Amino acid sequence: MSKQKFDTVRIHGGYDPKKHNNAAQIPIYQSTAFSLGTAAEGAEVAAGLVSDSFTYSRVGNPTVHTLEQRIAELDGGIDSVAVGSGMAAITYTILNVAEGGGRIIAPYDIYGAALDEFQTLFPKYGIIFDLVEDINDIERIKSLIKPDTKAIYAESVSNPIINITDVEELAKVAHESRIPLIIDNTFSTPYLFQPIKFGADLVVYSSTKGINGHGNVVSGLVVDGGKFDWSKDKFPQFYEAEYSLKNSKYPTNYSFANVYGNQAFIKRLRMKYLRLMGAVLGPFDAYLEMLGLETISERLDKEVATGKKIAEYLNNNPHVKRVYYPGLPASNQYELAQKYFPKGIGSILSFELDGSSEDTDKLIDSMELFLYLPNVGDSRSLIVNPSKITHREVPEERRLKDGINNQLLRLSIGLEDSDDLIKGLDNAINKTFK
Ligand SMILES: *Cc1c(COP(=O)(O)O)cnc(C)c1O
Repeated sequence: MSKQKFDTVRIHGGYDPKKHNNAAQIPIYQSTAFSLGTAAEGAEVAAGLVSDSFTYSRVGNPTVHTLEQRIAELDGGIDSVAVGSGMAAITYTILNVAEGGGRIIAPYDIYGAALDEFQTLFPKYGIIFDLVEDINDIERIKSLIKPDTKAIYAESVSNPIINITDVEELAKVAHESRIPLIIDNTFSTPYLFQPIKFGADLVVYSSTKGINGHGNVVSGLVVDGGKFDWSKDKFPQFYEAEYSLKNSKYPTNYSFANVYGNQAFIKRLRMKYLRLMGAVLGPFDAYLEMLGLETISERLDKEVATGKKIAEYLNNNPHVKRVYYPGLPASNQYELAQKYFPKGIGSILSFELDGSSEDTDKLIDSMELFLYLPNVGDSRSLIVNPSKITHREVPEERRLKDGINNQLLRLSIGLEDSDDLIKGLDNAINKTFK
């Protein structure tokens, strides 16, 4: 692992031009399959004895591989797997951890589709979620860990209420019970926060959002911190014999844990989930994502600065009841924000309008500049009403407990001029209440 700094790695990580005809930018390897060489070489490649070899683009592709290496390095992980969406990254990670059934602890306050999957789909596969109101209530989390609990899952910054998870404390609790901590770091991106440094074992991303930053690709990533020991206890899928790993080097004892050591999790995710379930990311999408990633620091610095101005503007507006933004000194999470987010809390914030449901609709219809759509982390500023769009599938009673009422609006701040954005918001609020 190189010791270069973040801004260097985001440009050069995982890529050596000499291996690609000296092309400055990573070529798009728009090829389904790759020649195996001689019969003897082909046998070695197929047996997994040649590292960084490519055979078929559902399993691995050089353009996609560069993205995977770059993200793993940016996040301080040992390896990563790129997949076709953030939901695929979450799904494959949960299945690879809790295959065959078990329990996972997670908060209610997460991405709507993830909550829907955890509550209504995974239980049908024998994976039961113990959902909590407050993921930072450490005593409650401890009390929920049972013999078949296999992981703790949380978002570093939650969607849409912008709650910061105390990752370091949660990691300690997980590791005391020999279970991994999985963090969805989508809102923060590796530029603002690196969960592995605070003890997380696995990091998942919807790189559709801030990592790419231009709203043009749907994609996901799983990053492995490489510190969790999968070779015993609750995780037999890693220490049972895996026939496809049998080769001349491992004629016996060919389990993922034995063959791959601390890479067991990420190698298994690629070989059992990406290869067999197939939610693959294409090379052109990976190329666009790396193009977006090249400017992540500058984009986020500007978006964070504008987000802070907008939070302050909203905080002082008489028609706004509450602003969800831990970067404000009045927030009860201000201290956590200082600890985990020295570069700023992010480009996404929410606020509750002091008005009726109809006023909220009116505000959306009066909105200038901000696009009304369900996405975040774009270079364009966006607005959405979570109760009716992104969190529509969450039962009303549950939503209201988490503050997701009809007056809640989520903003994702883009790269436009901050004065224009504030003017757009101010005009829409004035029009709504005139
Ligand atoms: C968007 C999002 C997802 C899902 O990602 P897709 O790329 O849309 O599948 C998961 N988690 C969070 C926090 C998200 O914002």
